[in-house]
Amino acid sequence: MSLFEEIGGMPPIEVFELNKLYADDPSPLKVSLGVGAYRTDEGKPWVLPVVKQAERQIVEDPSMNFEYLPVLGLEAFTNAAASMLLGGDSPAIKEKRFLAVQAISGTGALRIAADFLAQVVPNITRIAYISSPTWENHRLLCLKAGFNEVREYRYWDAQKRGLDLNGMLEDLRAAPERAVVIFHACAHNPTGVDPTQEQWRKIVEVVKERRLFPILDSAYQGFASGDLDADAWAVRYFAEQGMEFVCAQSFAKNFGIYNQRAGNLTLVANTANNLANLKSQLTILVRGNYSNPPAHGARIVSTVLNNPQLDAQWREHIKTMSGRLKAMRALLREKVEGLKTPGSWKHITEQIGMFCYTGLTPKQCQFLMEQHHIYLLKSGRINICGITTKNVDHVANAIHQAVT
Ligand code: PMP
Repeated sequence: MSLFEEIGGMPPIEVFELNKLYADDPSPLKVSLGVGAYRTDEGKPWVLPVVKQAERQIVEDPSMNFEYLPVLGLEAFTNAAASMLLGGDSPAIKEKRFLAVQAISGTGALRIAADFLAQVVPNITRIAYISSPTWENHRLLCLKAGFNEVREYRYWDAQKRGLDLNGMLEDLRAAPERAVVIFHACAHNPTGVDPTQEQWRKIVEVVKERRLFPILDSAYQGFASGDLDADAWAVRYFAEQGMEFVCAQSFAKNFGIYNQRAGNLTLVANTANNLANLKSQLTILVRGNYSNPPAHGARIVSTVLNNPQLDAQWREHIKTMSGRLKAMRALLREKVEGLKTPGSWKHITEQIGMFCYTGLTPKQCQFLMEQHHIYLLKSGRINICGITTKNVDHVANAIHQAVT
């Protein structure tokens, strides 16, 4: 009798399962619209030239070694990351009212945030609110961190294919004081719909009123508009409004360094008084988890962000990536509309960032997969980068057939 015999299985993770189905499909027609990673018009991953250049510099630096980083990571990286997020002239940075912690990409940063809130911060209500729908890992990581309950706030209005602001505000107003709420900083995954500035103002008002604690999730800075500052507007607005919050940053997408796991967690407080204690608490959390973070990805990012020339080159790369996304949105919409596919397709170009929430039903998604070798999540979310000038006709025709 084994101790392990009675353990049941867990459901597979949809997006990784989808990747495998795609990889195993021998059809030359196959298209991957599942996992959220950038692809070129040849359907290939893109190693950014500026990342290659930074890697060369790192490898050739005679002082480079493989010593452990400090528990909270490389300071040149965390400071540059916080400044990219909050803005160079941020009062929180000037007044030293922030902490920045290197993390295992965006997921790791969210997990440190959730651990910290659930286990360390007194008076936090251990109920986390996540948007409906959201990136599916939000729920899991909150529960693993020790939140007692995860609730959803309304976000997506399927009928109008846009934000359900009233539903969202109503749900947040009904939340208990000091509950934790995860907001997507920009380029909401999976819907591609962000609140407008006016709507953010209303949301922040409710957050203040109900004394909710925000976790901001910034996994796509630069991908929404092509402009890093514009995409940080919401985060900076929370700071400007004197809110205390944490923000998880991922450099997976905007640097194209997915497997390097470079991330940062920034905590903004309204006083610098107790930061030394907070820092020691975060140190113990990380120490008991993975002790200290990996260096290479953080070195790449800090080499770029701390060098004005490389930084400028990187900002151009971001424009290239977000520009291709916009172009593919326009092309897909044009093709689907050209086929006179029933329904409205303007949401394809109205949504922003990497994803389009197509509105296709699970059955239609299944049809695309089984009949046309097009792989997408059953929620109907597609990664726009998977569309190329070569496969767009095939995808548009398949959508047309699925709908008609
Ligand atoms: N948040 C959101 C909304 C995401 O879409 C992702 C990536 N899929 C992440 C966080 C974290 O990604 P990573 O851990 O790869 O940085």
